[in-house]
Amino acid sequence: MKKEDCIFCKIAAGEIPSTTVYETNEFKVFFDIAPASKGHALIIPKEHFDNIFSLDTETAGKLFSLATVVAGALKEETGCDGMNLLQNNGEIAGQTVHHFHMHLIPRYEGDDIKLIPASHEADKDYLAELAERVKKHI
Ligand code: AMP
Ligand code: ZN
Repeated sequence: MKKEDCIFCKIAAGEIPSTTVYETNEFKVFFDIAPASKGHALIIPKEHFDNIFSLDTETAGKLFSLATVVAGALKEETGCDGMNLLQNNGEIAGQTVHHFHMHLIPRYEGDDIKLIPASHEADKDYLAELAERVKKHI
């Protein structure tokens, strides 16, 4: 399924250009146009899924396997010291392109990129109760 006006569907189809690192029938890996760091790449399924809430588990599994390989390749060539895998779902979570994508963000000593703000310690009783409620849906 392809969505009209979805920029990543167009990238998947090769209708608009991207710096492609790797591609299969199902996935495409390309560099982010506005990289957070050197080597910042994105992995997308070619099929359109808005976000993780509509992604099927089989595609998710294959995508994460591919992410593992791509992470190693990026590390090899960039010499990065670490890497963040980031994946935003919904506008409130910072998603701006509503076609599922996984960010691979190489990290370098001293780069000072802040992806997740520091938080406060959670209420343990609340966590235990929430774990029970969430478990029912898995
Ligand atoms: P997100 O905020 O998780 O939705 O991330 C969307 C990402 O897509 C951003 O990091 C953008 O820089 C990137 N992006 C948007 N358009 C393009 C494009 N044409 N080619 C490559 N990356 C893009
Ligand atoms: Zn799409």
